Amino acid sequence: MAGAVFSPDAALPGLTVVPSPNHGPRAAGAVVDLLVLHYTGMPDGPAALLRMCQAEAQVSAHYMVEEDGTVFQLVPEARRAWHAGVACWRGRADVNSHSIGIEIVNPGHEFGYRPFPAVQMQAVTALCRDILSRHPAISPGGVVAHADVAPARKEDPGELFDWRFLAAQGVGLFPSPGEGQATPADAAALLRRIGYPLGDGDAETPDGLRAALVAFQRRYRPADLSGQPDAQTLAMLSAVAQALSGQGPKKGPEKAPEEG
Ligand SMILES: [Zn+2]
Repeated sequence: MAGAVFSPDAALPGLTVVPSPNHGPRAAGAVVDLLVLHYTGMPDGPAALLRMCQAEAQVSAHYMVEEDGTVFQLVPEARRAWHAGVACWRGRADVNSHSIGIEIVNPGHEFGYRPFPAVQMQAVTALCRDILSRHPAISPGGVVAHADVAPARKEDPGELFDWRFLAAQGVGLFPSPGEGQATPADAAALLRRIGYPLGDGDAETPDGLRAALVAFQRRYRPADLSGQPDAQTLAMLSAVAQALSGQGPKKGPEKAPEEG
């Protein structure tokens, strides 16, 4: 069963609307301040698109980006798409009510994880920039991986996704490693400051801490997914936390829009 046809939010060339029925209203008063990136984790793009448009699947995302760069919009941005599941960021659950979700086509760790082609990365970047222009409350720290907001359950989009490239294009952040004096004992506090959940709900557990460290490493130290806070991981933790300090969810655009 298809969802109702709608006008696309993004003015991107070649964008195709493929309505999904899998969405609902956002929580009352919810401000969109997160952008969540996923991989599809299915054998191919058409299979993922089909699944997200089947009512019984109960899953969707606002957008899907194919490996050739084709962008599909499945759910209007004003609606709550069902992409993040049980998740938490900066101590807040109901990530779906506060986010836009993008599914990036890749078979994922289950079906043959492979690099994201350059043309796909460029399309993802253009789409992210377009979304950020419409949702100024999404700060650089609000651009997250599905694995970041659900580290105990999820790996996507994973260690092959080029967050450094994205940050260089103005989407999210990728600071240079800091020279700080952080020790392994500081890892939990730094992860929490950045936004990671360290267990179920408010409970912090050793497994939760390790899962959050692996999620952080997938993104900022992909050569080491040990979940151990080694010197490089600690240097990146400090740098990211520092880059975010004082930068809560944005209240408005960082700079005035250009005239014209
Ligand atoms: Zn996901």
